[in-house]
Amino acid sequence: RAKQDGRGVLRYFETEMDARMQARRKLENELRLAIKNQEFELHFQPVLDLTSEKIVLCEALVRWNHPQLGRVAPDQFIPLSEKTGLIGPLGAWVLRRACQEAVTWGDDICVSVNVSPIQLRDRTLVQTVDNILDETGLKANRLELEITERSLMSNTDLTVGLLHQLRKLGVRISMDDFGTGYSSISYLRKFPFDKIKIDRSFVTGSDTSDDSAALVKMIASLGASLGVKTTAEGVETCAEMKSVRDAGCTEIQRYLLSRPISSDSIRELLHDRQTNGNAVTCEAN
Ligand code: C2E
Ligand code: MG
Ligand code: MG
Ligand code: MG
Repeated sequence: RAKQDGRGVLRYFETEMDARMQARRKLENELRLAIKNQEFELHFQPVLDLTSEKIVLCEALVRWNHPQLGRVAPDQFIPLSEKTGLIGPLGAWVLRRACQEAVTWGDDICVSVNVSPIQLRDRTLVQTVDNILDETGLKANRLELEITERSLMSNTDLTVGLLHQLRKLGVRISMDDFGTGYSSISYLRKFPFDKIKIDRSFVTGSDTSDDSAALVKMIASLGASLGVKTTAEGVETCAEMKSVRDAGCTEIQRYLLSRPISSDSIRELLHDRQTNGNAVTCEAN
């Protein structure tokens, strides 16, 4: 009896797994066709410089408009595209689209693009970036590449070399989601960075939690002494904005300012801000 039950459970799991495998394979095939079918779209989220109170940069965030499923979040298809190698063509597409959009903005506004660890393993990445800058006419100093700590755990020497080559082009490098990895601080010494993006798990609540505030302050002063900028991700309220400003962060990014919006909307927003001044949602103090 117990045996039978066991087999039944096993069969159930097998069917379950089959179904999941099939669903995954289906999504994989659809992902493969999605570039060709123009189902990807870039959204942009502005980043505010806390000194000038101006928008200085917009981060490009990819969206998949699936014909049946609707909008699929990047957390659901970036990992799959990394496993299947599709991140190569997808990453290049994102980079090209982001640069194409950025040339339509003011000259003082930069664009940042997330780069997957898999792309960092590809020796042709530097050439790809260089080609896309040439093609689109975007100045290299208006492009920032965001790299997460988990990218840096393998292939250290290769990655250091690659990052130096990218910086030689004039492109800037930021460390994304800082503080969530295993050896955040040692990475800062090993790899050439221009900016630290403090993960929102430290920023959210930093106005009420002394611990979070102390950590944000520590990272901001680390950034200052290394001569790099620090962006606080996840600033939700004016109180949090004040607290990260007091901590010494140089930039903020979060829904307080704007959610990620379409390329048309970001162009409008940037144009509005240019003509109507910099409507910051909070009082200065
Ligand atoms: P990320 O690079 O850390 O991007 C910031 C994420 O935080 C975005 O989520 C953004 O919508 C979200 N965010 C911003 N402000 C707020 C806020 O106030 N509250 C909350 N809850 N979230 C906020 P999104 O667009 O879903 O992207 C998730 C992650 O997917 C990104 O994290 C990035 O790691 C990855 N990703 C997105 N686009 C690309 C891409 O083109 N290439 C690669 N390789 N990865 C990408
Ligand atoms: Mg990012
Ligand atoms: Mg981040
Ligand atoms: Mg992230």
